[in-house]
Amino acid sequence: MKHFDCIVIGSGGGSKLVRPVSNLGYNVAVIERDQLGGTCLNHGCIPSKMLIHAADVASTIMDSYRFDITVDGSLHVDFPSLMERVNSTINKDSRSIEPLYEKDPNVTLYRGSASFVDSDVLEVNGEKITADRFFLATGAEPNIPDIPGLAETPYITYFEALKLKKQPERMIVLGGGYIAVELGYFYGALGTDVSFVVRSHMLRNEDHDVKGAFQQAFSERFPVYTGVTPDRVEYRNNEFTVALSDGTVLQADALFVATGVKPSTFAMGLEHTGVQTDEKGFIKVDEYLRTTDSNKWAFGDCIGRNLFRHSANFEGEYLFSSLFLEEAPQPIKYPSVPHAVFSNPQIGSVGKTEEELNEAGVPYVVGYNPYKKSAMGMALRSEHGFAKLLFHKETKVLLGAHIIGDEASNMVHMLIAFMYKKATLDDLLGMIYIHPALPEIVRNAARNARSAFREIEAARI
Ligand SMILES: Cc1cc2nc3c(=O)[nH]c(=O)nc-3n(C[C@H](O)[C@H](O)[C@H](O)COP(=O)(O)OP(=O)(O)OC[C@H]3O[C@@H](n4cnc5c(N)ncnc54)[C@H](O)[C@@H]3O)c2cc1C
Repeated sequence: MKHFDCIVIGSGGGSKLVRPVSNLGYNVAVIERDQLGGTCLNHGCIPSKMLIHAADVASTIMDSYRFDITVDGSLHVDFPSLMERVNSTINKDSRSIEPLYEKDPNVTLYRGSASFVDSDVLEVNGEKITADRFFLATGAEPNIPDIPGLAETPYITYFEALKLKKQPERMIVLGGGYIAVELGYFYGALGTDVSFVVRSHMLRNEDHDVKGAFQQAFSERFPVYTGVTPDRVEYRNNEFTVALSDGTVLQADALFVATGVKPSTFAMGLEHTGVQTDEKGFIKVDEYLRTTDSNKWAFGDCIGRNLFRHSANFEGEYLFSSLFLEEAPQPIKYPSVPHAVFSNPQIGSVGKTEEELNEAGVPYVVGYNPYKKSAMGMALRSEHGFAKLLFHKETKVLLGAHIIGDEASNMVHMLIAFMYKKATLDDLLGMIYIHPALPEIVRNAARNARSAFREIEAARI
């Protein structure tokens, strides 16, 4: 049986432990059952954002009348060509990984599904291998709800939605999370007639003002059925029929199921190890990302903490430095983990929401500013955009920042840095902002917070 210093299962965030560890002279095996590069490269962040950029271009053209520009003729989308370009680009990127591993004498790549057959023995393609240390970075996969009739239909998940060769004329999207609103927006902007079916609220984990504004803006553009569940799904004569709990019946030629993800931990023989999972299947880890089995660590989506590639990377880099570079490992210390929703409108967010602060009993002051009250926001004719900042009521430390509108995913980065440095309102107001760049929206939100603080102080006197 081949023995390695380390075995890494999963080549997404898992890659953070392959070549850096092999460069230190250790023998590393990496096991991947799909294309190399993980979900982000092959079925997630990268192809989705490449497609969404095309959707943004189409939206800009369709909205040009708002800027007194008329585009004659109708929008023509070469859908097969767009899909081919995006998929061939990511396939090429994915294929470029294997030669790098082949060139490295300390790396052995196994292409297949890994499963533990004993506590320290993995089986892959019928071969048994073992190691001193195991790193589990197996990610997540679509969660398919138990809706009567659904399993018998050719519904799609994000895997297929990123690769369709023919653009559907009508699409029903089940779900209101970020994958649903990003890919649903992509199809809708390119001309598919898209309807969304959402059990509670779109983007329900966002700050309440942000999710309210998002749902309002999205509903103006697409039919959104909220507070309903699908009772039954049928597929006949190339057509899906979805019966909703409120009696509505929807029909379409594509059904995109985007109702969240579950960890990819179920078929890997964890029962033969000491690795424990929670009730949803996510691997339990301690503050060192160590599982309940002493020579196994886990990170990324399969531990269910943040479910973003930037978080999987952070955790992978932490493990590399804490286990391979430092004398004594220190617990992982996450800064506030930001996120973005690349839909239309866009969202960028970091830190606590108002709901979380209320729940924790933390006193706070809000600084709010709509895009349209700043010069660049006026130029963009933003209707729904705003920046919302949350400061601690006593210390004035920035606790959370939520932006919805153009460039929100970029704008929020200044606030990620402020949060990381534990900045206060005075820090936000002390710097000079370029006039009339979009970040003035953030400055104006901070100024509004200053006014709110002054009112509170005046009331105290
Ligand atoms: C449509 C979509 C859009 C997204 N957009 C963004 C975004 O914009 N920004 C962002 O930060 N995140 C985004 N994500 C989430 C992001 O892709 C994940 O958080 C990230 O990929 C998690 O990295 P990971 O290493 O934990 O898992 P993965 O990247 O999923 O890697 C796990 C790998 O392990 C392999 N594997 C699993 N089990 C086994 C086994 N038993 N044997 C061998 N191999 C196995 C899998 O095939 C997979 O390649 C998106 C996801 C989707 C689906």
